[in-house]
Amino acid sequence: MKSLADLGDLRGKRVLIRCDLNVPLDGQTITDDGRIRASLPTLNSLRDAGSKIIVLAHLGRPKGEVNSKYSLAPAARRLSELIAADVKLANDVVGPSAQETVAGLGDGEIGMLENVRFEPGEESKDESDRGALADKYATLGEIFVSDGFGVVHRKQASVYDLALRLPNAAGTLVQEEVEVLKQLTENPKRPYVVVLGGAKVSDKLAVIANLIKTADTLVIGGGMVFTFLAAKGLRVGKSLLEQDQIEAVRGYLDDAEANGKQIVLPTDIIVAPEFKADAPPTVVPADAIPQDQLGLDIGPKSARAFASVIYPAKTAFWNGPMGVAEWESFAGGTRTVAEALTKIDGLSVVGGGDSAAAVRDLGFPDNAFGHISTGGGASLEYLEGKTLPGLAVLEDGGQ
Ligand code: ADP
Ligand code: MG
Repeated sequence: MKSLADLGDLRGKRVLIRCDLNVPLDGQTITDDGRIRASLPTLNSLRDAGSKIIVLAHLGRPKGEVNSKYSLAPAARRLSELIAADVKLANDVVGPSAQETVAGLGDGEIGMLENVRFEPGEESKDESDRGALADKYATLGEIFVSDGFGVVHRKQASVYDLALRLPNAAGTLVQEEVEVLKQLTENPKRPYVVVLGGAKVSDKLAVIANLIKTADTLVIGGGMVFTFLAAKGLRVGKSLLEQDQIEAVRGYLDDAEANGKQIVLPTDIIVAPEFKADAPPTVVPADAIPQDQLGLDIGPKSARAFASVIYPAKTAFWNGPMGVAEWESFAGGTRTVAEALTKIDGLSVVGGGDSAAAVRDLGFPDNAFGHISTGGGASLEYLEGKTLPGLAVLEDGGQ
């Protein structure tokens, strides 16, 4: 993987940079600008080098259609505030406005294309569709820098195919993220504790098979925990449940036992009658979840137990809130786990958009953790041992 320094003199060069600016929005307001701030080091290096910088990024899932709800305007505005310079946003992705925006850039200036996912070619499974779009991206610049760590697990036009078409390098964010993840996969200091939660159950279950081999202890909370409780024969009421994954989870529990690994599950759960911020919370034992209620957080006893498993860790990785942390009544488990992670004497890594947003919302400073990853899915796939297309292409596919 080349770095910026390997690209030579970049003064006056048109540099296309893929960033991950997929920030959470409340209307037009960015509720966590962490990903934009994480993109600054590479952007500032390119500004200092005097490049003409063209940012490619996505926001949400517009699914190949132009949709003003997913315009990058709020991200361009915030970026422009953070660098105290104008960031010109084109009103299309590869059309006349994009070309005009690029043509108007002076050395050290930044322009941005509209949401790359407005183009159906961006996420197409068909290589020639993606390639056709990547060809158009490639006409806009001379060099490609990959810095959107949150998307490197995607084989998409602005992540993968573009790298095949231009001389390329990894940005400092991608390099830094990979450096940290290497510490988790190559000889982690032990005990190595992994905490998993959140809502994307089936996505995350896949990583567990591999983690059982590398981590010493797996701590499970959040929405996925109910599939584990169900696998142990417990009733989970109306909680999130992936029926078709119960068998696989049983397999993980058996594997863990056979390998002397510990899987820690909650013994109490905070339930409510409906999925609402102001639904009345009740603490119940994990084996007595009422049929007409759903679990929205781990209980206080479990949170303390999780914390005591986390404290002695020398390496800890956390992805996925322990409950619906956006709502105060169901944020307690996430708060306790986050706090425990800030106190370990070793490397603590937080991965995942919602997890990162949750710790910031709860008032933890970024530097309380060893590293806050900008990529949830990407970091999980890395830990799963998968080849990430957006990294592999920088290593051997590009020029
Ligand atoms: P990340 O973005 O950090 O990878 P996910 O997107 O997988 O995390 O999950 C975050 C979401 O999971 C949050 O919006 C949170 O409200 C939700 N969540 C956590 N626990 C539960 C639960 N018990 N039931 C339903 N949703 C949950
Ligand atoms: Mg998420």
